[in-house]
Amino acid sequence: MQLKDKVAFITGSASGIGKEIATVYAREGAAIVIADLNRQAAEATAAELAATGAKAIGVAVDVTDEAQVEAAVERAVAAFGGIDILVSNAGIQIVHPLEEFSFAEWKKLLAIHLDGAFLTTRACLRRMYAQGRGGSVIYMGSVHSKEASLLKAPYVTAKHGLIGLCKTVAKEGAAHNVRANVICPGFVRTPLVEKQIPEQAKTLGITEAEVVRNVMLKETVDGEFTTTDDVARVALLFAAFPTNALTGQSLVVSHGWFMQ
Ligand code: NAD
Repeated sequence: MQLKDKVAFITGSASGIGKEIATVYAREGAAIVIADLNRQAAEATAAELAATGAKAIGVAVDVTDEAQVEAAVERAVAAFGGIDILVSNAGIQIVHPLEEFSFAEWKKLLAIHLDGAFLTTRACLRRMYAQGRGGSVIYMGSVHSKEASLLKAPYVTAKHGLIGLCKTVAKEGAAHNVRANVICPGFVRTPLVEKQIPEQAKTLGITEAEVVRNVMLKETVDGEFTTTDDVARVALLFAAFPTNALTGQSLVVSHGWFMQ
């Protein structure tokens, strides 16, 4: 029970990586806020966790909307009395060569990843500072926080940006015992990636199997996808780590793709 009596606010946790983190945190004793754009899936995920005996609520929120983020954090505090852990995880992917990106697509992707991270961080930091019991802020970066790939200009830009935000939160939060770190996964087979495989195959003029083998997993040491379980284990480490020794860091979890 590494997170007993902690409250975790996890964005984008009705699916994929965020859902797995919610499941692991619940198992470790945390009360969970499933904060997701998809209301139905958020409520269903919270109900699944509650059925295992965990404390969990589903809250519909668009992380790009300031008022909705403030209201969602208020609801979390009303339900569970505070916030100890923020996992800023909600994200999307859009792939095109840069010259084909519309300005609207560029702005949409940056808004979800960066405005969403800012708005949820600000709302949760205010609570953490007022509570005076410290906290942990975790950003879902990517290998694309460190490295570029074809067709992903706004995603690579946003994921690099999260490292700057994390470092600043680590410095400012230290006086309040609030830590901030970034997890940088390689490819994980979630709906976000399943959607990209046929899109990349079409754009690059190769088969879907070639996208997986020669694009997504080419630089790994073993040709394996990273799993949601791999990422959730690291998310637990960052959430449960007891001191400011581990702050301002970004950890790549990718089967060896991009070694630093
Ligand atoms: P996913 O599509 O399975 O889940 C993303 C969730 O975010 C969905 O439930 C969706 O409803 C929610 N969401 C989307 N826009 C939102 C918004 N505006 N407000 C609130 N919620 C919103 O994707 P995933 O693969 O689990 O991705 C989660 C995070 O992990 C993303 O930040 C992604 O960039 C990152 N990531 C994924 C991979 C991968 O290979 N899957 C690799 C590295 C990083």
